[in-house]
Amino acid sequence: MSKPILYKECSVCNTIFYKSRNVSTKAWDLVGFCCDNCRRVFISGFVPEDPMERLLLRTVDAPGGCRLFDGDIRGGFGSAVLCGKKDFIHRVAYRIAYGELPDNKEIGQLCGNARCINPDHFVGMV
Ligand SMILES: [Zn+2]
Ligand SMILES: [Zn+2]
Repeated sequence: MSKPILYKECSVCNTIFYKSRNVSTKAWDLVGFCCDNCRRVFISGFVPEDPMERLLLRTVDAPGGCRLFDGDIRGGFGSAVLCGKKDFIHRVAYRIAYGELPDNKEIGQLCGNARCINPDHFVGMV
């Protein structure tokens, strides 16, 4: 028996969102956006071309310049898709800002905020 796919990539911000229990399978097949905000951005026709700006649609400002991801968190981090590759959202943000990142390389946040995806706050760790 094959398992139904219970997550999708938002067509606007590229973050991963998960099916919630109260969404029927039929309704789930039709959704393309992680949140109402992304749906509004899509309808407005002004979806940013820059992948970083798209990711930042899903963040809220916090003191110290932090941009905190406010989407679905599984395994402690949100996820997003970049160039067809699913990864933790802070790793995706890092790849957009600084280029490819080996799978075995971890990223820390100088601000100590695991949800922060401001590239200025990243510090690479081997
Ligand atoms: Zn979205
Ligand atoms: Zn930060």
